[in-house]
Amino acid sequence: MKKIFGAMVLVMLLAGAGSARGQEQRGRLLAEGSYFSVYAEPGVDVYRLLTKIDYEYLVQPRAFGAEKQENLNDILARTLDGLYQEVSDILDIHIYSFKGKIVFVTDQPSLGQLLKEQYNLDFDERSIYYYDQNVIYVSASDMTPGMLGHEIAHAIISHYFVVPPPTKLQEVLAGYVEYTLRKNHRP
Ligand SMILES: [Zn+2]
Repeated sequence: MKKIFGAMVLVMLLAGAGSARGQEQRGRLLAEGSYFSVYAEPGVDVYRLLTKIDYEYLVQPRAFGAEKQENLNDILARTLDGLYQEVSDILDIHIYSFKGKIVFVTDQPSLGQLLKEQYNLDFDERSIYYYDQNVIYVSASDMTPGMLGHEIAHAIISHYFVVPPPTKLQEVLAGYVEYTLRKNHRP
């Protein structure tokens, strides 16, 4: 929790970093979901991501033949939409017009490097919601549904309140979402 709180403080710092505005997104666009444009660096294994999320609403990729591999990206986008809806249910905050970005980076060192390059930020956490550009960055090799849901909660909370709640309160809410997802989706 302490580490997570540290990440949130960084989010607030980043929110004020105007120099990073307008920079291009690293990674290529995989798919457009209802709530997220999904990007990934080369080397991110979409199938592996899907097996890690492993939700009830996930269409099992195994049901698709190798000839339909290209559909995995769309399945990922739909799965993330499902996760968004689940986080919305947990918070009881429903913003149907929400649209953000999720960028999957291969691992934590790559994530640190990306944030250093784009925002000149020293970052050693595994995921972050960057408020100023409405982007979630996550290390694919460390990703868990709880971690992703935590950042999605930050995005939803930031959009819902006219004045963003204090950092500590946001962490309590995002932490509650993470806890609930972990409980609901035990591996
Ligand atoms: Zn947080």
